[in-house]
Amino acid sequence: MQSPTLNTSIKALSGVGEARARAFARLGVTDLGGLLSFFPRAYEDRTVIKPIAMLMEGESACVHGIIATEPTLSRVRGGLELVKFRVVDDSGSLDVTFFNQSYVRSQLHRGEGYSFYGRVSVMGARRGMTNPAFEPESSEGRVTGRIMPVYRLTSGLNQRAVMSAVRQALDLVGEGVPDALPEEIVRRFELCQARYAYENVHFPADFTALALARRRLVFEELFVLACALGLLRGSREERDGVRLREAELEEFYSSLPFRPTGAQRRAVNEAVADMRSGRPMDRLIQGDVGSGKTLAAAACVWYAAKSGYQSAFMAPTEILAAQHMETLSGFLAPFGMVVRKLTGSMTAREKRETLAALTSGECQLCVGTHALLTEDVEFKNLALVITDEQHRFGVAQRAALAAKGNRPHILIMSATPIPRTLALIIYGDLDVSIIDELPPGRQKVDTFAVGSAYRKRINNFIRRLTGEGRQVYVVCPRIEEGEDLNDGLMSAEEHASELQREFPDLRVGCVHGRLKAREKDAIMSAFAAGDIDILVSTTVIEVGVDVPNAALMIVENAERFGLSQLHQLRGRVGRGTHKSYCILISDSKGEDTRERLAVMTHTNDGFKIAEEDLRLRGPGDFFGSRQHGLPELHVADLGADMDVLKTAQSAAMDLLAADPGLLWPEHAQLRERALALIETAGGRFN
Ligand code: ADP
Ligand code: MG
Repeated sequence: MQSPTLNTSIKALSGVGEARARAFARLGVTDLGGLLSFFPRAYEDRTVIKPIAMLMEGESACVHGIIATEPTLSRVRGGLELVKFRVVDDSGSLDVTFFNQSYVRSQLHRGEGYSFYGRVSVMGARRGMTNPAFEPESSEGRVTGRIMPVYRLTSGLNQRAVMSAVRQALDLVGEGVPDALPEEIVRRFELCQARYAYENVHFPADFTALALARRRLVFEELFVLACALGLLRGSREERDGVRLREAELEEFYSSLPFRPTGAQRRAVNEAVADMRSGRPMDRLIQGDVGSGKTLAAAACVWYAAKSGYQSAFMAPTEILAAQHMETLSGFLAPFGMVVRKLTGSMTAREKRETLAALTSGECQLCVGTHALLTEDVEFKNLALVITDEQHRFGVAQRAALAAKGNRPHILIMSATPIPRTLALIIYGDLDVSIIDELPPGRQKVDTFAVGSAYRKRINNFIRRLTGEGRQVYVVCPRIEEGEDLNDGLMSAEEHASELQREFPDLRVGCVHGRLKAREKDAIMSAFAAGDIDILVSTTVIEVGVDVPNAALMIVENAERFGLSQLHQLRGRVGRGTHKSYCILISDSKGEDTRERLAVMTHTNDGFKIAEEDLRLRGPGDFFGSRQHGLPELHVADLGADMDVLKTAQSAAMDLLAADPGLLWPEHAQLRERALALIETAGGRFN
C-alpha cells in the first residue's frame, strides 16, 4: 500500500468495510483527514478508581478488583444468557452481570485482577454492575482508568468501532497530521504541536493534555475561519476613500420633528469623522430595536449628498425597503434630495426609471433589496453604502454593492446587539458605534410568558385593547397546516381563521413569506394604515416595520424562537405613546424554555438578552437558523471560547496584513484550509 495520507479512504483501515464506510459517510467522514477531525462530542472520565464500598447508586465509576467466584453461565427465559460473578477489593464486593455476552467467560478468570467501568446499581447492601467495560489490571488501560472519547454515532457504528478507526488513523498518519498554523504562530501563542493536539483530543493522556489539545484546535479552527473571512473580504483599503466636505449637521437636525438623542448624534459624528478622514469608512452601528438607527443613516446620506455624492441603502426584504424608502424620503425631501427605490417586484419600466436616475446623478439615494446588486445598476458617484440587516447579507454581497462605487464608505446597521468579538468575526475589522439610548417617552413593554390555558383571558385582552382602538400582532411559527400535522405548531393561516371566528367584528389579516411581495406589501400597508385590527403573521414582520398604534404582540409557540428573535418581535410594539404588551405563549415544559422565556419577562435590554441567548443556545442558533452565515464549527464554542476567538482573530489580521493573499510558501497549508472552508460554506458564507 502507498503510504497513507489524509486523503486515504477510511476503507484502508481494518474493521472498516463497505457498510461501516457508509455509516461513517453519513457522519461526513470519508478519509483519514476527516476521521482525525471527527472530534469527540464529549468525554467520559474513567480516571477515578473507587473503592467498591464507596460506589453510589446510579454513578458510573471504575473499580479495581479480583474475581472471587467462578463466572457462571445461565440461561433464562427467552434464551437470554447471563454470566455472573463476584468481584472483591479491600473495601467490599461487587456483583457483575453480563447479558448476552457469554464470550466474556473466556476472558475472565477467577483469582485474577481486572478493572471494570460501568454504571452502579445498589440493591440493599449489595452493589452491582451490568455489562461493564473491563480489562486485565495489568494492561495499559484502554477502556478503564482513563479519559474516554465519546463520539457522535449513527446506525452501524458503535463507540468501539469509531475509537478503533481513529486510533488506526492516528497511527497511520503519524506526523502527517494536518497543521494549518504557521510555526511562528504556534510559538508566539504557546500552542501545542498538531500531532500532540490530535492525539490528545481523541485519547487524552490526562485533563491537562486535553485542555492543551483543545486550545490548540480551537485556536486553529477560529484562526482558519478568520483567515477565510479575511480572504473573502479582501484587505482593508489603505488607499484613499471619498473625502466629504464639511457640512453643518444642525441644519439637518433642525428639520426633524424631534430632537435626535445624544447616542444618535454620537453615532453620526463618528461616521461623519470617518467620511471626512479620506479613508473609506467601515462602521457598524448597533442599536436596539427602536433606538432610531434609520435617522442616523439618514443623517449620513444627507451629509454625503451635501458634498454631491450618492448613497445606496440595502434592506433584507421588500417590506423593509418600502418602509425605509418612505421614512428616508420624509427626512431628505425637505432638502430637495431625491430618493428612489429598486426592488425585484418593480415593473421593468419603474426599474428603468430608477436606473436612469442613478446614472444621471439626479437621485441622491437608492433604497433597495438585493436587486441593487444586479449588474445593470450603475451609480454616477456612489460614496456611501448602507446595509440594514439581520445578518442576512454576506461579505460577498456587501462587497458587490461596494464595487458599484469607487471605494465607498460602508455603514452597516444591526439591531441584534452582538458581542464585540462575534461582530469582529462576522464583519471583520470594523469600527463600532452603539446607539445605547432610546428616544424619550418610550415605555417598557410588559411581557408575560403563559401557557395556552390562558387563551380565553388572552382573547379578552385582545378584545379590550382593540376596543381602545389599538392593533395587535400575532406571530406563528408556521405558514399553514404543513407536512407534519402532529408537531402541534400553530400555523398563521389556520390561526387567522380561528381569530376571525372568535372576533367576527374585527378585521383580521394574515401575512407570510409565501405571499407575493405585492400582496405582502398591501397587507402590511393596510395594517400600518389601521385598516386591519389583528395581523397574524410568520416572522416576516420580525424586522423594522413601524406601526406605532400596535400595542400588543402575541407570539404562539414561543419556544420555537430564539431570544434575540423574540426581542425583535417585541420591538414591533411600544413604538408609540401607548402602553404596550407582549404575550409569549408556550406549553413547553422544558426547563431551558422556561428559563429563556423568563429572561424575556425580566428585561427589555437587547444587549442582556443577546448575551443570555448566546449563553443558552450557543452561537449556532444565535441568529436564528442559518442567518449568521458562519460555517459549522467543530471544536470551538463561540460562547465559551471568546478569549481564544479574540486572539485568533487579531493574529489572523496581522498575518493577512503582511501576506494578504496568503501566498507565502509557509502559508500554503493555511491558504488551502481557508479556501476549502469557503468552498464548503458556499454562498451563504458571511
Ligand atoms: P430602529 O433603530 O429599530 O431602526 P427606527 O429608526 O425605526 O428604529 O426608529 C424607531 C422610531 O423612533 C421611528 O418611528 C422614528 O421616527 C422614531 N425616532 C427616531 N429617533 C427619534 C428621536 N430622537 N426622538 C423621537 N423619536 C425618534
Ligand atoms: Mg430599523
